[in-house]
Amino acid sequence: MPPVNVIKGDITKIKVDAIVNAANTTLMGGGGVDGAIHRAAGPALYGACEKFHGCRTGEARITGGFNLPAKFIIHTPGPIWHGGDNGEDQLLANSYHNSLRLADKHLCRTVAFPSISTGVYAFPLERAAKIAIKTIKDFLLTANYVDQVTMVCFDDKTFAAYQSQLY
Ligand code: ADP
Repeated sequence: MPPVNVIKGDITKIKVDAIVNAANTTLMGGGGVDGAIHRAAGPALYGACEKFHGCRTGEARITGGFNLPAKFIIHTPGPIWHGGDNGEDQLLANSYHNSLRLADKHLCRTVAFPSISTGVYAFPLERAAKIAIKTIKDFLLTANYVDQVTMVCFDDKTFAAYQSQLY
């Protein structure tokens, strides 16, 4: 498999070293992919997240995977879209970059991301896909351990957007 790949699927089912959660700044769960990850990981994940007392947008925190097939869960609040002139692009790149740094620091080789910020947070999909793939590719050039990153897309439109940024 190429070092960056795009698949359609449910990120809670993916067996990789680390999956990334599109969290909110409380890190205490929410809707969308965050809710799905908390349900699948089990209630012990709340206890682990509670200890962080939140996380700023674009930063990342790591927990175990609990009942998930993934070893670790990396939680990062992506930016809420406010029109594009409020640092959204940089904050989204930070979410990908800081998540990958944390994965690398924990000796992870395989990492899976959902489409951060393009659900309830309303970041335009094509623009988000471009930032995500570029940030991932740039990171892979300097990574020590991470050597395969998978974008796990929940629907066809998201899958097509990320797929089209690969080449
Ligand atoms: P955000 O608040 O960062 O926008 P959302 O959870 O609302 O996060 O949406 C982010 C993306 O995650 C959307 O494309 C949504 O369809 C997708 N998503 C929802 N559930 C899952 C899941 N189980 N696996 C992968 N992606 C998911």
